[in-house]
Amino acid sequence: MRVISCIAMEHNLWLVLLAAFVCVTGCWVTSGLFQRVRKTEGVQAKGWLVLTAVAAGSSIWCTHFVAMLAYDPGAPIFFEPLLTMASLVIAIIGTGLGFAWATGSRRFAAVTGGAVVGLSISAMHYAGMAAYHVAGIVEWDGVYVAASVLIAVVAGSLALRQWVDGQSPKAFLIGTAILVLAIVGLHFTGMAAVSVTPMSFVTGGTNPSVLEAMAVSVAIVGLLIAGTGAVSHLIDERTRFENYERLQHLALNDALTGLPNRTSFNDCLAHEIERARENEGTRVAVIGIDLDRFKEINDMRGHAAGDQALKTVSRRMTRLLKDGEFAARLGGDEFAAIKRFSEQGDLLDFVARLEKALFQPLRFDDFEIVTGASIGVAVYPLDGEDCERLVSNADLAMYRAKADVQQVVCFYESAMDEAARDRRALANDLRHAIERGELALHYQLQASVLTGEVTGYEALLRWLHPERGMIPPSEFIPIAEENGSIQAIGEWVLRTACRHAAGWHNEHKVAVNLSPKQLSHNNLPKLIHEILLETGLPARRLELELTESAIIADKARTLHALRQIRALGVTIAIDDFGTGYSSLDTLRSFPFDKIKLDRSFMGDIEQSPQAKAIVRAVLALGRSLEIPVLAEGVETKIQLSILQKEGCNEAQGYLLGRPQPLGRIIEAKFGPYIPEETAEITVSTPPALRRLGR
Ligand code: C2E
Ligand code: CA
Ligand code: CA
Repeated sequence: MRVISCIAMEHNLWLVLLAAFVCVTGCWVTSGLFQRVRKTEGVQAKGWLVLTAVAAGSSIWCTHFVAMLAYDPGAPIFFEPLLTMASLVIAIIGTGLGFAWATGSRRFAAVTGGAVVGLSISAMHYAGMAAYHVAGIVEWDGVYVAASVLIAVVAGSLALRQWVDGQSPKAFLIGTAILVLAIVGLHFTGMAAVSVTPMSFVTGGTNPSVLEAMAVSVAIVGLLIAGTGAVSHLIDERTRFENYERLQHLALNDALTGLPNRTSFNDCLAHEIERARENEGTRVAVIGIDLDRFKEINDMRGHAAGDQALKTVSRRMTRLLKDGEFAARLGGDEFAAIKRFSEQGDLLDFVARLEKALFQPLRFDDFEIVTGASIGVAVYPLDGEDCERLVSNADLAMYRAKADVQQVVCFYESAMDEAARDRRALANDLRHAIERGELALHYQLQASVLTGEVTGYEALLRWLHPERGMIPPSEFIPIAEENGSIQAIGEWVLRTACRHAAGWHNEHKVAVNLSPKQLSHNNLPKLIHEILLETGLPARRLELELTESAIIADKARTLHALRQIRALGVTIAIDDFGTGYSSLDTLRSFPFDKIKLDRSFMGDIEQSPQAKAIVRAVLALGRSLEIPVLAEGVETKIQLSILQKEGCNEAQGYLLGRPQPLGRIIEAKFGPYIPEETAEITVSTPPALRRLGR
């Protein structure tokens, strides 16, 4: 009887090579797919896992099957269909479980998952062997079987450890090679365990060309499956790359105009400064650009025209750029440019080109407009050493250009622009002053000159800045008017003053100063009404003080608002009377409830007969118009006695009382002890008046 070990059986060499090719290709594709499992999450990761398992299982199975067909046992062979199919299913599910486990976060997940992969390769192999029937007596050697399984498990573990823990592409390649070894090692050791004794009565084998055809078909199917996996991987890579590129473009460019955005601008500037630091003599200019009449286009022609204008301007700017020049859109109608240069003339040339482009007319269907722009320039290293400073200085210069109708381009000048920076810093702090509780109201009494009785208190705003200390209203109110925070601040003052006064339990008025900017706001009468209702202060106890400038700005509109406010029962005083351009005309335009004579007249009243004459005239005017007059800035007893003689109605000034926090006023009115300096603001006759014999 002839005993043939399987290993000694005759091989069809090219089929063995084909099996090896399927094995290597399959493992390589599996490695790529497995990588996707690890880099994705959720459903995506699950999808990739299924693909990995299918690619791995089918190529392991195909390798085994083709290798089996490469043997010629010299006797007819036969494959049992059910078991053969089962071996394929075992390979797919088994490796799938192994890969899934290996990507988990448990300790030794890679090694144990790899072991499961090794076990499934073994299970697939022996199930496949069980399905392989040859006309002979088959004998098994247990030691080889055990060794084959051990090889598969150990190599599987090592392979997945490389895949999961190895960080480099090299480690990944080593892992793939070890997986190939696991499959091949198992197969050959497993085959060494089998010996076949062909039945002597059966001669010949299966037709080799039939076996070959089968092997080739199986290999092709295996490669197709692996190929499908590889293609999905490639498509995914490409899509991800394109998405990345698109996101990258979106992140660095302005969507509307396609110009680089602020991020790119900052990157470019940082890069240019770095370069200039290394090359002596190289300078970098930051150019801030703000379109002048963009808002007009938007308002008049709509946003589509605005967008069109921005696109055209951007296109013109892009076209003029030369080497070492860069332009970006920072937002809205705000652009910026960068210029690397060593000769001042080059910078001037660039600025002139920009200016020309920005002042070219923009044509829409039936109309044409020149937007124009304000341009500010700051140069590294003279005007700043870092990006932030340079951009901020270019902005300051640009604001100066914007404020000056004569100038389009301004170069940063520390002497001029630093004051502006300080002001801007203050403006910025002012925006948060309310919420940070830095604002407070002080009150200064107003008293009747005739009886000495307190008639009311004027609310005067104070800002206690955390670093700069007390900032007078003359300094910050103009800033608030400029940056718009006056609306919120004014509302806060009104609400706070009304709330305070509502708690006074007397008939004293509270006088609140109004900024012209507040008056031009549509909602003021409504706001005042709401605040009165909310605080419970009777309207007659609120007096609003406004200066002439408030009325001149937009006369019709202001007078309309004033009438509405007055209809609520609130009284209105004209402040700083006598300092404006046309005080008399203002008086004619509206029935004011009080004239507040400016404090500048008080200073001179003692020495100057002219000043005295003016005061007398104003008092006479008040009498004939039946409007009471309050004299501001009364500091001396002589001033007060003159006012008494001339028949002035009310007075306010340091002599009667300085502006004080509310706490001190309450103390003075209700407290048991009245300190000397606050005694002046008691409810009763002020001491100054008392001393005058009243
Ligand atoms: P104003 O309305 O003419 O306020 C009177 C100013 O004269 C106050 O200055 C007050 O402290 C000062 N004063 C009072 N008595 C005397 C005196 O006897 N001699 C001298 N030399 N000065 C006297 P203050 O508090 O610095 O306010 C300055 C200006 O700031 C105010 O002038 C007013 O126009 C504005 N202001 C104050 N609070 C507010 C507010 O809440 N809103 C608005 N819009 N403006 C306010
Ligand atoms: Ca006032
Ligand atoms: Ca005043």
